[in-house]
Amino acid sequence: MKVVYSARYQIDIGPHVFPTRKYSLVHDALLTSGVIGPGDSIEPEPASWSDLALVHTPDYLAKMRDGTMSPEDTAQLELPWSTEMVEGFRLMTGGTIQAALIACGLVHDDQTQNPRNTQNQVFSAGSAGSASSALNVVCHIGGGLHHAFPNHGEGFCPFNDVAVAARVLQARGLERIAIVDLDVHHGNGTAFTFEADPRVFTCSMHQQHNYPMWKPRGSLDIGLPDGAHDATFLRELERALPAVMAHAPQCVFYLAGADPYEDDQLGGLRLTKDGLRRRDRLVIDAVREAGIPLVITLAGGYARRVEDTVAIHCATIEEAVLASPS
Ligand SMILES: [Zn+2]
Repeated sequence: MKVVYSARYQIDIGPHVFPTRKYSLVHDALLTSGVIGPGDSIEPEPASWSDLALVHTPDYLAKMRDGTMSPEDTAQLELPWSTEMVEGFRLMTGGTIQAALIACGLVHDDQTQNPRNTQNQVFSAGSAGSASSALNVVCHIGGGLHHAFPNHGEGFCPFNDVAVAARVLQARGLERIAIVDLDVHHGNGTAFTFEADPRVFTCSMHQQHNYPMWKPRGSLDIGLPDGAHDATFLRELERALPAVMAHAPQCVFYLAGADPYEDDQLGGLRLTKDGLRRRDRLVIDAVREAGIPLVITLAGGYARRVEDTVAIHCATIEEAVLASPS
């Protein structure tokens, strides 16, 4: 299975609860364990500023590009501004775009290193899932920056990579897209972005009494009580997935946040590692059985021990590999 990844996702943001080294730790662990091979990793290109403008406002993009954010902007983003930070997250957004194009068969295997060759390729019914080029499940060892709004970044999310990738797919002809967000935090930026777009079904299952305070309505929001365990989470997920699939999406994005974990510093749910793996399997099986392209992004993960976050993300990708035809 192909994974999209760059060592440049390890961005220097100073001492921070967000461990940007987790991306390289996950990649290295997957290589060491043999879940992926040395030839499976695809280095992305940065999202172009015009791709970012499919979601984000010109004023916000100018501030990010030029470093003219106000102290309030930076405080809301909760990341220090630097060129490296902006470029790192622009690259990560490009990674989600690239994973989506590959999953939907809009880039051929031999073009995966240069997606710009495929700008005229347009999605047509039946093209996804065909043996020609669609890889069906593609993991991005990055992404899931669901707190970014069109006109501002917040909560460690400068650009909303999944929203931008969904807009890119729409521009290539996809009519129905679903986003399944199982990070412990509500996907506020994503819900807001697609509030008025019935072509994109946004589903967020999260801890209700946690950041963000304001939770714009998505297509399906499930707010779980503090301390919810595996059984509650999995039961609610089993009820939610048929509603997602009833949208008949032509591509599903899955934000597989590691932060519903019981020992997460920013989460208040009580899922075990085994419960999180069963969560991943439920999503992957539902989408795979329907023959729909699936793009997996990592999203949050702030366990007290970074090894736990890494193990949870690795398990997600392992489940995707197990479900993929070799
Ligand atoms: Zn989160």
